[in-house]
Amino acid sequence: MPPISRPRGTEDLLPDQFFAMRRVSEAGLGVAASFGYQQLDTPIFEASELFVRGVGDSTDVVRREMYTFADRSGRSLTLRPENTAPVLRAFGESSLRQLSPPVRLSYAGPMFRYDRPGKGRYRQFHQFGVEAIGDPEPELDAEVIAVAWDWLQELGLGGISLQLNSIGDAACRPAYREALLEHFAPHLATLPELDQERLRRNPLRILDSKEEGSEQLLASAPRTSDYLCQPCREAFERVQLALHAYAIPFELNPRLVRGLDYYVRTTFEVWHEDLMGAQNALFGGGRYDGLSELLGYPPAPGVGFAAGLERVVMLAPPGPPPARPQLVVCSAQPVAVASAIDASQRLRRDGLSVLCDVGGRSLKGKMRAAERSGAEAVAILGEEEVRERRLTLRRLRSGEQMAVRLEQVYVQVREWEQDTQFGEGPA
Ligand code: AMP
Repeated sequence: MPPISRPRGTEDLLPDQFFAMRRVSEAGLGVAASFGYQQLDTPIFEASELFVRGVGDSTDVVRREMYTFADRSGRSLTLRPENTAPVLRAFGESSLRQLSPPVRLSYAGPMFRYDRPGKGRYRQFHQFGVEAIGDPEPELDAEVIAVAWDWLQELGLGGISLQLNSIGDAACRPAYREALLEHFAPHLATLPELDQERLRRNPLRILDSKEEGSEQLLASAPRTSDYLCQPCREAFERVQLALHAYAIPFELNPRLVRGLDYYVRTTFEVWHEDLMGAQNALFGGGRYDGLSELLGYPPAPGVGFAAGLERVVMLAPPGPPPARPQLVVCSAQPVAVASAIDASQRLRRDGLSVLCDVGGRSLKGKMRAAERSGAEAVAILGEEEVRERRLTLRRLRSGEQMAVRLEQVYVQVREWEQDTQFGEGPA
């Protein structure tokens, strides 16, 4: 029988990757907290209807990419492909609605899309995001962008550009849609199949097209910015002024529409120079003022973004490696096993991280493993040490060795560690 492997498009986060991912998401949650955003978590599966209505049944995500299944009672459930609709649902049906708006929320967790797997594209991936709910003020759009921007700065991630657009609202978008349809109508038959379908289902999505054969017509297509109504125009100006106040550079990109149906007015993405083609976005977001009503709740305007953590981890400069145990405690003979376990427990209570090695292999083998563990020191307990109530403590990088009492171990290991940290110890 062949061994069972992980499902296509998924990844195991082995300790180094897990640590890198956690560092990056905690940095994001920390920056969000410094702006007053509080973290929440919602279920990983939801009623399918939440995404069909909330994300929109003309989107690729809903039409092709959802992991949908019936549970044992026949209810249709879907593994969440994104988290804005779930957060809005949680907001709508909880006491969060009673808080004074805007309610600032952040999250980090796995999302699921039946996407074509490739570099930076998975079927289970992780997003960090924020949502600011209950307030239509355009300055809030700039604030969520600032959270994301400061996070990327903190990670030291260069080569990024903020792409900004406004796609109007229910008042001005119909006219733009018409203009777009008129522009493409005479050439419909020459367009790639996928783009013909986009025009039929949701004309704005054609702006997002990466299909060969549509480029020329796209380049001359009408621009959203020329069709904005006065309130949308003013809102867009205020977003830009606020971004200047945050000293965040941006590029106006009149072709930037987002893949999900619920956006109005501000849309944005952050691109990275090393991400090409359809995978160039590190994160995206925008304003979704009508989403709450779509889900059956009272109006709650909002704005947010979601960032793909795998892509950020891939591009950010590497952080420190995961912490290693500070000390390895080994038994040299079977008679010392109980003492080694007891000593390890006491030292852990003192505050050291201790790897206890009382296995059956030779002391030589244990020492080799201790060297590989990255620990600062190893403490050896043999027959003699047990009899004399002491331990042999050896600093692994120098070979320096001494006999100490248990109470002295903590101070000695910390002292060596500090020497190592400040580079004073012998290499
Ligand atoms: P979206 O919700 O489609 O706007 O995606 C927001 C961000 O999530 C993207 O910019 C990517 O960084 C990330 N993302 C979306 N889909 C995937 C995927 N299949 N694999 C990895 N990251 C993804």
